[in-house]
Amino acid sequence: MQTFEETGINPQIIKAVSELGFEKPTPIQELTIPYLLEKKKDLVALAQTGTGKTAAFGLPILNQINPESGKTQALILSPTRELCVQISNDIKNYSKYLKNIRIATIYGGASAEKQIAELNKGCQIAVGTPGRVLDLIKRKKLKINNIDFLVLDEADEMLDMGFKDELDAVLASAPEEKQTLLFSATMPPEISKIARKYMRDFDEISAGEKNTGAENVNHQYYLSKAKDRFKVLKRILDSHPDIYGIVFCRTRRDTKEVADRLIENGYNAEALHGDLSQAQRDFVMNRFRRKHLQILVATDVAARGLDVNDLTHVINYNIPEDPKTYIHRSGRTGRAGKSGTSISLIHSRELSGLKNIEKKLGKKIKRKAVPSGREICEKQLFSLIDKIEKTEVDEAQIEPFMPIIYKKLSWLNREDLIKHFVSAEFNRFLSYYKDAPDLNIYEEPDNTDKQSKKRRGKESGFTRFFINIGSKKKLSPAKLIGLINDFTGMRDIDVGKIDIMKTFAFFEVDGRYEDDILRAFKGVKYKGINVSAEISKEKKKTGKRTSGRKKSKRKSGRKKRNQNNNFA
Ligand code: AMP
Repeated sequence: MQTFEETGINPQIIKAVSELGFEKPTPIQELTIPYLLEKKKDLVALAQTGTGKTAAFGLPILNQINPESGKTQALILSPTRELCVQISNDIKNYSKYLKNIRIATIYGGASAEKQIAELNKGCQIAVGTPGRVLDLIKRKKLKINNIDFLVLDEADEMLDMGFKDELDAVLASAPEEKQTLLFSATMPPEISKIARKYMRDFDEISAGEKNTGAENVNHQYYLSKAKDRFKVLKRILDSHPDIYGIVFCRTRRDTKEVADRLIENGYNAEALHGDLSQAQRDFVMNRFRRKHLQILVATDVAARGLDVNDLTHVINYNIPEDPKTYIHRSGRTGRAGKSGTSISLIHSRELSGLKNIEKKLGKKIKRKAVPSGREICEKQLFSLIDKIEKTEVDEAQIEPFMPIIYKKLSWLNREDLIKHFVSAEFNRFLSYYKDAPDLNIYEEPDNTDKQSKKRRGKESGFTRFFINIGSKKKLSPAKLIGLINDFTGMRDIDVGKIDIMKTFAFFEVDGRYEDDILRAFKGVKYKGINVSAEISKEKKKTGKRTSGRKKSKRKSGRKKRNQNNNFA
């Protein structure tokens, strides 16, 4: 099946979904739509959040609803208020061009009276949380004796949230003759039990590995000391100026603390956890959905109802104990065809937990090096320059102020003016990351990214670099060490032998920092010439590392005597 048209779904529904930008069915829709249109058998569908589940059951159900009857024909159970509202809104959007379709949304934590009024008007589809649905069934406000479809959405979550008794009771009061559809990301034994108990001879389908959520997610981890976790988080946020993501914490206390510290440090962040009232949670979620908030710090439970599709990142401030939780968290990014990144901050003792997650995930989680101060400054600077470049200028509004501004700044030439503007924005980063230490730790496992592997591999020696400046440009060993410090933004790279010639020089650095040096010396200038540093062809490694910079300097001082020999 390539298109929605081929499914035979009502053109009015197809018109509505194309307006939502759905061009072709997602893998789970390819499987469920023809099935639900043709068969009456119960169905268990394994699918992650974000794979297009709502339309997978919503479209075929809508197609079979009788708008002439006001009776409730489909009941959809979902774990949280937010998911119910989301599902309800989605189905309202799909049925935009259908006449007389009414959908009631019933969930706990809000007045039942309004919901009862909605039910009294008659609705063909009811979407609700198990507790409130059961309550309204008992109060005879919601009648499910005529339903043709019963959907259990995110069934595993409903069980995790403690809705087992309510689910049992609702399922027991539903009529025999109906089609039950159970959607779940995983298939724990309790779900199989529910399926066996309440579903007749059912089929099982899975969108498997193909789901877009899993495919488009990049999995990464950063290894540091536990005490540096918050600093690492800041570096990651600083090196992604346009991040729009969720930082997951294990406890409410952590959530509050991390959010408070981020806010104190000037980040556009807010906490979402169970200690907040429903109104406060709604407020925070709405701000986040509207992108007025860039970073949401949340517990798993509180974030459950949040359905946002274009997160750039999910950050695990701590890795969860249960790999299933990791999979759920990371499935919140990389949705609807977009790519996303799931980042875990870990220390050495959490490496085995990470391995476990990799096994369940069926994917490697790549190690990334914690960005250096210099790398972050570079990213921020480019982002700032980009923003300045793209800023729209309202000539008419700004014109009256310009003469006085030009006059005030007339003493600055073009270059200085640019420096002043950039510094006004950027000084806080420069001073924060001046002398910023390396937060990586290096004693780590085999699943590292190339960069970290290289660093480890080079542990035993120095790498020799060629650089295209020499004594003619007044380069001295001390000056060269200064350049290495400044360009890399690191203070603790061991420097070995330095050989300075008239127009070029050679220097050795701790081999673990090869890439940092190459990157740092790219596109930089020294006394008006473009500096280029490359690994020396006659790469020479001293067997042992010198113990420190002072020693290196002494060595380089000694250098002059035999520098010619080195180039013989
Ligand atoms: P869901 O799993 O239902 O929460 O859907 C995840 C996101 O994918 C939602 O934003 C849907 O609007 C979007 N979506 C669902 N089906 C399609 C489709 N066939 N093409 C493009 N986007 C879709």
